Amino acid sequence: HGSATLDRERLRGLAETVTGEVLTPGTDGYDDARHVFFRHLDQTPAVIVQPRDTDDTAAAVAFAQANGLEIAVRGGGHSGAAHSTVEGGLVIDLRHLDSVEIDIDNRTARVGGGATAGAVTVALAEHGLVLGFGDTDSVGVGGITLGGGVGFLSRLHGLTIDNLLAVELVTADGRVVVADADQHPDLFWALRGGGGNFGVVTRFTFRLHRVEQVLGGMLILPATADTIAGFVRHAQEAPDELTCIVNVMPAPPMPFLEPAQHGQLVIFALLTFVGTAAEAEPVLAPFRALAPPLADLLQEMPYAGMFQPEPDDYHPVAAGRNGYADDVDGAGAQLVLDTLTAQLAKPEVQMAVVQLRPLGGAIARVRTDATAYAHRQRALMLNVAAIVSRADELEAQLPWLETLKAALCDGTPGGYANFVYDDGPGRIHDIYPPDTYTRLAQVKAQWDPDNTFHRNHTVLPAV
Ligand code: FAD
Repeated sequence: HGSATLDRERLRGLAETVTGEVLTPGTDGYDDARHVFFRHLDQTPAVIVQPRDTDDTAAAVAFAQANGLEIAVRGGGHSGAAHSTVEGGLVIDLRHLDSVEIDIDNRTARVGGGATAGAVTVALAEHGLVLGFGDTDSVGVGGITLGGGVGFLSRLHGLTIDNLLAVELVTADGRVVVADADQHPDLFWALRGGGGNFGVVTRFTFRLHRVEQVLGGMLILPATADTIAGFVRHAQEAPDELTCIVNVMPAPPMPFLEPAQHGQLVIFALLTFVGTAAEAEPVLAPFRALAPPLADLLQEMPYAGMFQPEPDDYHPVAAGRNGYADDVDGAGAQLVLDTLTAQLAKPEVQMAVVQLRPLGGAIARVRTDATAYAHRQRALMLNVAAIVSRADELEAQLPWLETLKAALCDGTPGGYANFVYDDGPGRIHDIYPPDTYTRLAQVKAQWDPDNTFHRNHTVLPAV
């Protein structure tokens, strides 16, 4: 592996073969292209190829193979584990594969493997159609879909993969295959949760839903052990039309909050109710009754309004831990408050957050073995995260993040590929329970026996 094997002649040949860009250190655009969302994950690839189509993508895979270059595939570049960049290797940067072709009559969309969640959401909104991704505009459809996809509509319409109909994929041997329920069903099973292990996805076909308006937005309550535990319980008991993302964190200095509240721990929740304000009223009443809201910005809006573009300069230096629990009781909620209070007192900790995502609903109605995302019966996903100002301060956060996560998960295993931001020993087995891993390893052996695609949560080919 490494750039030493790259000679100019061959690079020129690649640049002539592909219609997209081929960027190397020193060329215009290389530096912009090499950065990922988490800027501190700073790598210098030997070459970045930006395909314009499937053939370009296949050419990039073949070039890397022929030149012994390690491959990283970049969708939206949001991996917290640096999976979409690679020191001295070849990045296949899919940013130009961002087309969205909508079939209104059949309620399906064909989406390029490098599109972003926000752009697709906006394109669909013109037709009153939706597809659930996560909660963030700039996240790539590629990574979020291949890992599962937990977002604002999950309890009503399932994970992103529950709406996936077909995948077009460039495989390690340079073939272009389509996987769906009929063609290569094992591969299709593996792609729904198994990440980038099997090839480069150039196109996804999704089933869409008709949702014109939602009642959604922010609801901010004071954080106490009772309000946190109560909020999660109400969110779990609510009808599937309501999906909540519950953040326990210090109140940001937002104009609609009293200055005295800035920095106080609050429940900063993002709610999405598919229905009218009148229908939402009785569903939301128990949340509002927990404590007088500090801010209640819930309003009727087009679904796309839930996605607020992040500022261009938002590149947090963050570390996180992810797991699943069944609920949060008062003691767990108190531990969250005590831990956050203690950590936020440290000067290097700019932000500390515990995010609770009540699941269930449509996610849990899909059989556990139907896709490679297997944690369908877990009721609550949790993410604990810290933001610091410098990369060398991250290491010191890991012990408390790990301890808090373990306490809230009550020792139960489990992890979500898209929020597991490190490759520590055994993490892969948190993400994939034994039966799932065994099946993934068999599919891997069939489609990527040499483990060409390993910048992901890597499944080793079965022997
Ligand atoms: P990348 O870093 O480009 O890719 C991530 C992985 O997927 C890499 O291994 C990459 O090689 C592979 N990959 C990407 N595209 C392709 C492709 N077309 N073909 C083959 N392999 C590919 N997740 C949720 O489920 N819900 C959320 O609400 C949510 N919110 C988030 C908010 C933020 C601010 C961040 C940073 C992440 C969030 N995530 C969320 C996690 C997110 O889903 C993962 O980080 C995801 O992997 C990002 O996908 P990407 O394409 O942007 O990233």
